[in-house]
Amino acid sequence: MNWITKFIKPKIKSLFKKQGSDNKETLWVNCECKKLIYKDELFNNLSVCPSCGFHHKLTCEERFKIFFDNKEFQILKTPEPDDDPLKFPKYSAKLKQAREKTKQNDAVLIAEGKLDGLSVTVGAQNFNFIGGAVGAASGEAFIHGAQNAITNKTPFIFFSCSGGQKMQEGAIALMQMTRTVLAVNELKKNNLPYIVVITNPTTGGVSASFATLGDILIGEPKSVLAFAGRRVIQNTVKEELPEDFQTTEFVKDHGGIDLVVERKYLRSTISTLLSILLKKKEVKNISGINDESDIQESLQKTSKAI
Ligand SMILES: [Zn+2]
Repeated sequence: MNWITKFIKPKIKSLFKKQGSDNKETLWVNCECKKLIYKDELFNNLSVCPSCGFHHKLTCEERFKIFFDNKEFQILKTPEPDDDPLKFPKYSAKLKQAREKTKQNDAVLIAEGKLDGLSVTVGAQNFNFIGGAVGAASGEAFIHGAQNAITNKTPFIFFSCSGGQKMQEGAIALMQMTRTVLAVNELKKNNLPYIVVITNPTTGGVSASFATLGDILIGEPKSVLAFAGRRVIQNTVKEELPEDFQTTEFVKDHGGIDLVVERKYLRSTISTLLSILLKKKEVKNISGINDESDIQESLQKTSKAI
């Protein structure tokens, strides 16, 4: 990288670059507002467009870097089930390509670290990995995250970003909906907070299972949260749908989620919510929280605060 690649935008720069150069892809990002933003500048702003406020997608590691204290976290090794159980045409090649592109084995990564000094287990989905689609590996990773939270008595926070279940894994992918719901149930049985941050987009089977079962559901601004797509619904109900239909703001106004929070406030908001759910004075020692009535009382207080 030099001053010319950094400061000259691609349109002019492309006149000088060699054919096949990928500078445009690696250094500049095209925003929804049609503005080109220098990639480093965008990431320094938490991948939120400085002009229009659009929240760009993050990879799992980028998400962890901006969420954990001092960017310190440890990625957990999660189970690796059979890659291609149905021998679906071209699926193996697609998986290989996704792995090369993302340097992840699957769309879901689980990490542990601290949030304002409190130990937390955090999961995230990478949309760059086949649209964050959920199959057996993602299901196993989610369950492993929930299990880690239960074993270490930490809250579980999950950043959802997915188009739904993997068609290439058929019924096995659909079964992950039930399995992840059961894992959420185990968290609740153990009185551990489960918070979901719905990021753009969260659709299909993910929105119909673990992503909408958090004790608190937080949406990033203007993120799509839906089961079926807008066009499918419009063609079924034969009515004009509002412009902001299926955005997190729309779903919040209709009671589907609790909060819409800008990315820069996610850490502080989740930290505050956890301190309420766990009772502030015991935040540093959450293993002391086991009384059902304590949790109910905290939840009531939280809902009043919201
Ligand atoms: Zn923008």
